[in-house]
Amino acid sequence: MSHDFKAIPRRGLMLVISSPSGAGKTTLAQGLLAADPNIEMSVSVTTRHPRPGEVDGQDYIFVDHDEFAALRDSGGLLEWAEVFGNFYGTPKAQVHKLLEQGRDVLFDIDWQGAQQLQGQMGHDLVRVFILPPSGQVLAQRLKSRAQDPDDVVTRRMAAAANEISHWAEYDYVIVNHEIDQSIAELRAILTAERLKRERRTGLPDFVRHILAEL
Ligand code: 5GP
Repeated sequence: MSHDFKAIPRRGLMLVISSPSGAGKTTLAQGLLAADPNIEMSVSVTTRHPRPGEVDGQDYIFVDHDEFAALRDSGGLLEWAEVFGNFYGTPKAQVHKLLEQGRDVLFDIDWQGAQQLQGQMGHDLVRVFILPPSGQVLAQRLKSRAQDPDDVVTRRMAAAANEISHWAEYDYVIVNHEIDQSIAELRAILTAERLKRERRTGLPDFVRHILAEL
């Protein structure tokens, strides 16, 4: 009896996307999640206040400073960072569970988080940096965001340059000019990375069965 070639077990991967704020990363992430049933978002904890329309447990797990510190100090976070005066972190337990089940996890985190994850989970990580098509386009997008007060926009503009300076630490770079094209490129990365031999833990068994039938 043949082994099912469509269900060869593999370990899940961690797809990390970083970009300056305003480069379209959130839209890209949502597009990828809608298009691919085998990847899900890692929901971060944050001390930032919810923006209008954000849902607790879905966009973020919103906590206060004490709760964040307790989680971090008990080793419950895979990584954490302070961004714009707020704390953000990735809960550990859920990620490990998903990877073992062969499910992929998408991370929308900044360069500090990507560096920490690389140190801890190197082989599981696939890092993608999203660039805007030009500085002009990015500046325009940041200015037209209505949700943040002016001083936050100014800070984000400065932070964008800082975030972009880390582009070379990533495995892949996508220039987000047209969203459908960028989603297609992200899916191509995912397809190739899923086929990597090292992730495909069921291959030795599968090959053994092929050889046994010869
Ligand atoms: P925002 O407040 O706009 O949702 O996110 C601000 C920044 O924090 C973004 O660059 C986002 O990628 C980053 N961020 C969100 N969650 C995490 C996290 O769990 N860890 C790290 N290191 N950064 C995060």
